[in-house]
Amino acid sequence: MIIVHGGAGDWKQDKLAAALPEVEKAATIGFQILRNGGSCLDAAEACTLHMEECGKLNAGVGARSNLDGVQELDAMIVDGVNLKSGSVMAVTGVRHPISLARFAMEKTPHSQFAGEGVKKLYERMLAEGYRKETSPGVTSSPFHSQGGDTVGCVAVDVHAHIAATSSTGGIPDKMAGRVGDSPIFGAGAYADDTCGATATGWGEHIIRVLLCKTVVSYVDDGLDPQAAASRGIDLLKSKTGSQAGVVVADSAGRYGLAMNTKAMPTVVICGKSASFRRFTSTADLQA
Ligand code: ASP
Repeated sequence: MIIVHGGAGDWKQDKLAAALPEVEKAATIGFQILRNGGSCLDAAEACTLHMEECGKLNAGVGARSNLDGVQELDAMIVDGVNLKSGSVMAVTGVRHPISLARFAMEKTPHSQFAGEGVKKLYERMLAEGYRKETSPGVTSSPFHSQGGDTVGCVAVDVHAHIAATSSTGGIPDKMAGRVGDSPIFGAGAYADDTCGATATGWGEHIIRVLLCKTVVSYVDDGLDPQAAASRGIDLLKSKTGSQAGVVVADSAGRYGLAMNTKAMPTVVICGKSASFRRFTSTADLQA
């Protein structure tokens, strides 16, 4: 199974219409890998990489800029099998921070990178041939979406292993150097061996309730993923008054999503039959 979102926010209709096909494509790319027996990490990275590459979402190429006009990107990948994660924070000049986050997780003894060292890490990743650039490591592009939000996914592979990702240009009007929830383990994404979650919304507030870890704990304690997602958003709202969205999937093949924003383009593909569902708002959940 893969559940993928393109960000929770106050989406304008035209932006939503442009974003949804990219979220669908990302989900299809990830699901194809899972279907062929690939790992949840491979699926989650490839899925997220498409959303970073498409230019229609607030990640990678399409990321919104900070107040200084610079795209500073945050991304994280979580491996639920061993509770490992890799994060990169406020990265510039990198097209696919999700791959760099995975490199950090798999090829270094550390989990979080920021500052000048991220550039060195990026150089090392290329030098070791871990990932290649499709074009020189530039994240500026003609496509500035400015209308979407963080992207992320939770992938569950044939071994029932779970990976979760998040990747973002951050909130509007962010100051230079600001880092949100997206690369923070337990806040922007989290997974263990039974459940995974990834969040989107106002990072300063998502961090306050460690939204993804909280939602996964609800599932670990016996709630079904849909109830857990809704309860997580209720908690965020009651504790902070803020807005967010969260998507969840567990190793039993169940999923859930919740938001208290206008929309959150979300696609789920699951099972042998590749059953496909698309959601844009809470109303779709009731349909
Ligand atoms: N959570 C992201 C952040 O605070 C933004 C978003 O999801 O829209 O950086």
